[in-house]
Amino acid sequence: MQDHHLLAELMDVEVPAALKPVVDPKEYAHRKFRDDEFWRHIPGYADVDRATFLDWKFQNKQSVTSVDKLVTTLGSLASPAFIDDVRAGIARAPMNVRLSPYTVALIDWANPYQDPLRLQFLPVGSTQLPDHPRLTLDSLHEQADAPTPGLTHRYYDKALFLPLDVCPVYCRFCTRSYAIGGDTDTVHKARLKPETKRWHTDIAYIASRPEIEDIVVSGGDLYMLPAQHVSTIGHLLLAIPHIRRIRIATKGPAVSPMKILTDDAWVAALFEIANAGRAMGKEVCLHTHFNTPQEITEITRQAMEVLFKGGVTVRNQTVLIRGVNDSVATMTELVRRLSYMNVRPYYVYQHDMVSAVEELRTTVQTNATIERGVRGSTAGFNTPLAIVDLPGGGGKRDVHSFEHYNRTTGISVYRSPAVHADLVYLYFDPIDLLPPEGQERWSRPAEHQKMVDEAIAAAGLTGMPLAVA
Ligand SMILES: *Cc1c(COP(=O)(O)O)cnc(C)c1O
Ligand code: SF4
Repeated sequence: MQDHHLLAELMDVEVPAALKPVVDPKEYAHRKFRDDEFWRHIPGYADVDRATFLDWKFQNKQSVTSVDKLVTTLGSLASPAFIDDVRAGIARAPMNVRLSPYTVALIDWANPYQDPLRLQFLPVGSTQLPDHPRLTLDSLHEQADAPTPGLTHRYYDKALFLPLDVCPVYCRFCTRSYAIGGDTDTVHKARLKPETKRWHTDIAYIASRPEIEDIVVSGGDLYMLPAQHVSTIGHLLLAIPHIRRIRIATKGPAVSPMKILTDDAWVAALFEIANAGRAMGKEVCLHTHFNTPQEITEITRQAMEVLFKGGVTVRNQTVLIRGVNDSVATMTELVRRLSYMNVRPYYVYQHDMVSAVEELRTTVQTNATIERGVRGSTAGFNTPLAIVDLPGGGGKRDVHSFEHYNRTTGISVYRSPAVHADLVYLYFDPIDLLPPEGQERWSRPAEHQKMVDEAIAAAGLTGMPLAVA
């Protein structure tokens, strides 16, 4: 009411002539949040009313975890040829399939090959490319930097704690395919079961290292733990005097935002540890993982508003994925949409070197180009950093900070002085996106080491040991 009054006073003021042209209303697409009953066009959900669809237990129970369930859910929407293609994709995939009904309902099944959500969660055989010859299973060396299972201590003052190995959805590009989501035909996993005994060992390690101030709780995903366990883990970590910051990393809001609206006990546990932390002068926040504007609906907007009003800071980490968000236009819309919801875009990650998803990776150049296009389109604090998490355990680097980048061979050379001062790190662009000369050289194994040596020499680092042989 008061605001109306204030604005009414402006009615009589003469508006100064604009220096900028009128903005095309299309520019405001990021403010339009889908609010229809979009799930009703899926045969399996045609009779599901709004209250049921918004129930987090429905989303959990009805998640699609097999091709057979996908077929019964989609009915006539999926062609037999497409389903065969999915079966072929799954046979080689390092991740199991798990899709929430929310995600299933947002996929355009008339165009599944181009759909940005299908691309992220459901493999198909026909588009698969051979793995890059330099790719390994745990490319970030998380296990090598783990003093105890589920606790990676790579950086000086921060550590990564993985309390469990299940998520509300399985991303094809998951960098933790060495552990997350159960065995597949191609990968036998190091399990990280949610067990109090293991949690205690991990947390005892954290307590024994006074330099650690910052804990990333990831997974696996705390979305999948009961409220009681979220509370237990939160309070144990807060009780360690030197811990100042806790971030809970979750894919949940991107694939099942309704949990924030309907799982009152879970949200209460989150607010309770966030408030307990604040009272101690410590930060407890949430890191989400939205990758496309399509994942964000009115349900998401309401969920993020609950968190904002509850005082929980939310930051977002995006993975740059070919065909999903690898354009300036899509990334700008995503960034603006997140900002509109008061979710801070934090990182855009270069896609890790993960098995059987080569067709989803982009070049380092693409990431740099998108960063250049996005920066300046909104507030600097809402503009994500373009990051590459270095294969071999060098940690996160600004993609632009390479010592050398050969766009023909696709080899970028990085150093990470604060993590391992004496090692050289390499990232390799996907071969199919290289110019013909680069593709030709990668087709000859005798050239591989030569290309690596050339890149290291061009960086002026000949003789410095390489993190990944
Ligand atoms: C990403 C990550 C962190 C957190 O890094 P930030 O750059 O602070 O977001 C901590 N530990 C490990 C092992 C990580 O991979
Ligand atoms: S939610 Fe995160 S940990 Fe889980 S499968 Fe996706 S990328 Fe991996």
